[in-house]
Amino acid sequence: MGQTLELGRRVELVSMDTHCHDISLGLYRQEVGAKLVYLVHTYHIHADAKIRVEMIQNGLVNRAGMLLTGEREHLVAFPCGHGHEKAVRRTFLEVCKSPNSEIGDSLPLVRWDKKADCELTIQLEAAGTYRITAPDDAELGPRRCQAVARGFSKLCEMRVDESDPTVVSFECGCDHDELMGSLFFRAQNVRSAMKDDALSAARGTLAAPGNQD
Ligand SMILES: [Zn+2]
Repeated sequence: MGQTLELGRRVELVSMDTHCHDISLGLYRQEVGAKLVYLVHTYHIHADAKIRVEMIQNGLVNRAGMLLTGEREHLVAFPCGHGHEKAVRRTFLEVCKSPNSEIGDSLPLVRWDKKADCELTIQLEAAGTYRITAPDDAELGPRRCQAVARGFSKLCEMRVDESDPTVVSFECGCDHDELMGSLFFRAQNVRSAMKDDALSAARGTLAAPGNQD
């Protein structure tokens, strides 16, 4: 039996997974027809490595709202068929930071915001379109809602509404509640997310396109 695994193009790499014997974990992208699909893979053959790959893959299902394609083991894709590559890469990195027991389920669309000193909420406005809201009495609320919307535009390649900068939408026109929940924390702290990217790029583990602030 040859080792000719069709992995596709590697789009992200965790070179040392401290939660699993320092193995390396790769995220690969493939095209299946018109659909973009992803594969989590490690070259390590340790039994724990196999479990870890499955846990990370489940993490992408739960935290990014992806589905097992069923065409081949371990392939996951968005129901809309689009790649949303930046968002997948980011979610993959976030999931890999957690031990198996803490990867868990999707995250809420309401979060406390330290800078605005209030809760921010992500509301589905129309198909694939979300509004970031704050309570009316929160003085810094509107500004923070705009900042978080800008954060999402960078992290998930979403389009900011021209007439309302607190509204962002996915180009596919489909809902992605799980992605919004998973990356909410990152959108609130987009500068630190960008700094992480720069560090990874410096380590040569990540080609970070569109890293302009
Ligand atoms: Zn989509």
